[in-house]
Parts: sequence; C-alpha cells; structure tokens
Amino acid sequence: MRKVKTYQIWVLAMAILLILAGCSSTGETEAKEKPQRPILIQGPMPIEAEKFAERLENVKVEEAGATFEFYIGTVEGYPVIVTKTGKGTANTGAATALAIEKYNPAAIINQGTSGGHDPALNVFDIVLGERSVNIGALKTGDLAKGEGIEPTEWKPMDLMASEGSAGEDPDAENIRYYEGDKELLAAANAVKDTHTKGKVVEGTIGSADFWNNEVDRINWIHEKYGTSVEEMETASAAQISAAYDIPFLGIRILSNNKTNDGAYNPDTAAANQDYVFEVVKEYISSLSSK
Ligand code: SAH
Repeated sequence: MRKVKTYQIWVLAMAILLILAGCSSTGETEAKEKPQRPILIQGPMPIEAEKFAERLENVKVEEAGATFEFYIGTVEGYPVIVTKTGKGTANTGAATALAIEKYNPAAIINQGTSGGHDPALNVFDIVLGERSVNIGALKTGDLAKGEGIEPTEWKPMDLMASEGSAGEDPDAENIRYYEGDKELLAAANAVKDTHTKGKVVEGTIGSADFWNNEVDRINWIHEKYGTSVEEMETASAAQISAAYDIPFLGIRILSNNKTNDGAYNPDTAAANQDYVFEVVKEYISSLSSK
C-alpha cells in the first residue's frame, strides 16, 4: 500500500514539473520569436525605390499586379520592406493598403521627388511632411453653359467629411490635412545634417494626379493650402495609413521648382534615398531603445 502511494506521488510530481517546464519554455519561445513589425519605405518610380532596395540585406522580392514590387529585407538586422508603388494616387493608395494587409508594418515612409511651391526652397532641399494634403480634390463653382471656367474660384473638397454627397454637403468644403507622425519626424530631424546637398525643412506636401507648370496656379495652391511642394503620392499613402492607424511620414526632395527656375534634376531621387536610409536607421534605434 505504502509503496504504491509513494510511486503515485512521484509520478504526479514529475507530471507537474514537466507541465511547468513546458509552459515556461513555450513562453520564452513566443517572446523570442514574436516577429518584429517591418518599416515600410515607399517610392513611386524605379529611380525612387531601387537605390534604397540595394541597401537592404537578405532581400527577397515579392510582386503584386503589374505595378507593385516589395523588396523584403533587413537593415542592421531589423525588418525593412521597400515598395515600388508606381506613380500617382490610385497606385499608391492600393500599394499602401496591400502592404498593410500583407506585412502589418510598424511605420510607413513615402519618399521621392517633388516640385517646389515655395520659392525659398531649391532643388536638392528636402521637405519633411509635417502634414500632407490632397490638392486635386476640388469642387467647382456653379456656372451655366457659356459662363466659362473659373479655376481660381474652385473650392477644396474633403472627401472624408461624410458618407453623404460631397457636392451638396457644405462640410465637405474644407481642406483635410494628414499629420506626419511625431516620432518619425523626430528621427528625421535628428539626422538632418547627413543631407549635405541642400537643407531639410518641415512643411506641407500636396499630392494630386497632375504636374503643374503654370506658376500662377502653383502660387494659388501655395496660398490656399500652404504647400511647400507638390507630387503625386504622399497624401494618398497618408490617408490609407491614417485609416489603419499606422504612423506615417512623407519625405520629399525637390527635383524641380518652377517658382525660382529650379530645373529638373533626376539625381535628387538618389540623394533623397541616401537621407531616408539615415532616417530609417535612426528610427530603428529609437524603437529598440524603448
Ligand atoms: N520628369 C520625370 C517624370 C516624373 S513623373 C521623368 O521624366 O522621369 C512624376 C513623378 O515625379 C511622380 O511620382 C511625382 O511624385 C514626382 N514629381 C516630381 N516633381 C513633380 C511636380 N512638379 N509635379 C508633380 N509631380 C512631381
């Protein structure tokens, strides 16, 4: 009798020990293997994405549709994904939603070239998007046949104001700005000095599927929206990032500036990627010191 009891206690104790050991080791593996959420870097054109992609380690390429390319790799051991989104707002919005659903990024940076709206900015200067705005969402005045076209009377339209008619809703006659993430901005400001070909300033990035060469129109947008630069992507990536509550920042170098005769220079695209690479390293170190 006594012998059997001791044996039973022994088996029970061993079982409890095994269960406890099992629990703690699963706990440890989970903590160790919990995947780090990647940082996503977007660039519209090959010259705006490939230079950055070359600097990734352990790269694997995934494609979606005819336009989107995802270079999945690491920077100093941290996961970073570079996306070539294609040009314009629709491509960028789709590439952003796709990347968020596929890769669950911790933060998104949209970067590339832009045209200056502020005459104080020169080709090779960089604008950090303290905010971005869709400058192509406009409501025209009410003019009958034969009364002409009055672009300077057009009003900014906020497509996110309601689910009702943007044409009828007076609340839609507002400018909607998307704020740049404070921590990404702080990382970008911290490495400002690494960009030696121009200055780095905070400002407003305006996006739409157009390229303005009319200086009066550029000035009209600049006054109405406070834009520093125009390009075709940032605000759409910001809009989708905001919908998923993912920290976002636009970083745009001036490749041209009509307001001060700054001629287009494609070398700016590579210079911006050099700078954004420094921003990413700084942001990674701020993440790991948390
Ligand atoms: N001239 C360039 C064409 C760039 S196409 C070439 O031949 O290679 C447009 C791209 O440049 C977009 O992705 C847009 O974000 C950016 N861009 C640069 N300057 C711009 C400007 N002044 N207006 C609109 N987009 C601009």
